[in-house]
Amino acid sequence: MKLNVLHLFPDLLDQYFDSGNIQCLKKRLEWRNIECEVSCIRRGDPLIDLSDTDIILMGGGADKEQLYVCRHLLGYKNELNEYIESGGSLLAVCGGYQLLGKYYKLHDETINGLDILDIYTEQGDGRLIGNVVLECDFLDEDHNKVVGFENHGGRTYIGDHTPFGKVLYGHGNADNSQYDGVIYKNLIGTYLHGPLLPKNPALCDFILTNALKRKYNKDIELDPIDDELESTANTYITKRFLTR
Ligand code: GLN
Repeated sequence: MKLNVLHLFPDLLDQYFDSGNIQCLKKRLEWRNIECEVSCIRRGDPLIDLSDTDIILMGGGADKEQLYVCRHLLGYKNELNEYIESGGSLLAVCGGYQLLGKYYKLHDETINGLDILDIYTEQGDGRLIGNVVLECDFLDEDHNKVVGFENHGGRTYIGDHTPFGKVLYGHGNADNSQYDGVIYKNLIGTYLHGPLLPKNPALCDFILTNALKRKYNKDIELDPIDDELESTANTYITKRFLTR
């Protein structure tokens, strides 16, 4: 078996090393003897046909970089939309997540989004920065606490979409929204930056399982991996922030 992973604009959207998520996807496949090929689209590169793509990652970045990426991706809108509607996996972090909506309204200009999700983002006063603990219902009970870090000026309003997780600590979508991100088909949008998947291996395996299921058209159970260190770190952080 083999999965093809596409990293969109690692040169522009990689705040807090979001590309660590690619390494995690790749490594957890290799440990199970499943091949993984990673390709990237960088500034100036032509966009590629998505028919062989199984997982896409879009990281976060500064407003200026987002503006460039979004202009570039507007021509890709239909292709990305079809990919999502046909169950393609996409992990979009912070700035990447904002771009999937209708628009991102800054104080002095508005960035038109890709309009893949019926959500919108507006720049608020001050930034929402800090550690986050979420509860994600779609993960099994022993692994449903997802930990991470957020830093964003935009506040995202998700309307009727299903949130990615309930905020137990931190901010998430907006100041008091109580929820973070969106989950729609196999698309996950979240404000949780940096090494989200290494910190939350159950989430990584959830993405891999869905991508394999779509590609091979059957249920696939991944071989277990010893995640004791990751689990200990996750439990430590969860306790630290939730028992104050
Ligand atoms: N520029 C966006 C904001 O501040 C996204 C930031 C990010 O990706 N960390 O809201």
